[in-house]
Amino acid sequence: MTPAEQKMAFLFSLRSRGITDKTVLTAMEKVDRAAFIRGTFADRAYEDTPLPIASGQTISQPSIVALMTQALDVQPRDKVLEIGTGSGYQAAILAQLARRVYTVDRYATLVSQAQALFNDLGYHTITAILGDGTRGLPEQAPFDRIILTAAAEDPPSPLLAQLRVGGIMVLPVGQSDTVQTLVKVHKTENGLDYEELRASRFVPLMAGLGKDN
Ligand code: SAH
Repeated sequence: MTPAEQKMAFLFSLRSRGITDKTVLTAMEKVDRAAFIRGTFADRAYEDTPLPIASGQTISQPSIVALMTQALDVQPRDKVLEIGTGSGYQAAILAQLARRVYTVDRYATLVSQAQALFNDLGYHTITAILGDGTRGLPEQAPFDRIILTAAAEDPPSPLLAQLRVGGIMVLPVGQSDTVQTLVKVHKTENGLDYEELRASRFVPLMAGLGKDN
């Protein structure tokens, strides 16, 4: 397949996996996943599979990125927080839909590589920040939308506190690598509503900063 054919097949496979939101499909079409993958794996960018990135982490499977983005129901005026920058791909997708995106990772290498990429690609509404995402980003709170791309045992309470009333948080919840559920949390005036979306497999959310070699 030529790269153009690969991309067509990629978008078709997203549709067949239940991604129906046009704005999400357009965002997935605009952002080139290959730009977020370095070295030998770049030619597999349009396969629906997670791939290795720096600091021993992974770029998520594109159909999961699309599914989580769709569940987040991002609005054009939204300020969004992502925990787990990784390659920066999910943040770039969010930036197509939101006014402002903050993305936090615990690895300095990932944060600086992602920020350099955002600058090169002209994604000027994204800011990548080094930090422990379990604490959120109090200086920019509250957020309209929060997405975690690493699995928590429970939704971290600082993040729930930094979500605006009327806001949505999407995250994988689970005690291990293998048994996790994608959960959508709706914060209302009366409290929190939880909706389970599907099974998932993410790296765990780890407290503290990571050590790069
Ligand atoms: N969204 C990424 C994939 C993320 S992989 C992409 O689009 O490529 C999960 C990421 O979560 C890893 O980079 C890992 O370092 C990060 N992570 C895990 N625990 C964290 C924490 N407490 N704070 C911030 N980032 C964390």
